[in-house]
Amino acid sequence: MKLKVDPDLCTGCEDCTQACPSLFKLGPDWIARVVHEDVPPELQEEARTTRDLCQFEAIFIEEEP
Ligand code: SF4
Repeated sequence: MKLKVDPDLCTGCEDCTQACPSLFKLGPDWIARVVHEDVPPELQEEARTTRDLCQFEAIFIEEEP
């Protein structure tokens, strides 16, 4: 599973970084960054939940086939 934040959509609201600091951190430009682009299996469900939580739809997940 690949995790990405679109910097053009992210507003830096911090919902993801507060909900899941294991996967998201805020950059110095107030845009969220992913901690692991390749999400370890134990964090994949949390990645999906946090993606759904982003009200700006800035978080994208690419599931492995
Ligand atoms: S929840 Fe979405 S808009 Fe808010 S900081 Fe995270 S990626 Fe950016």
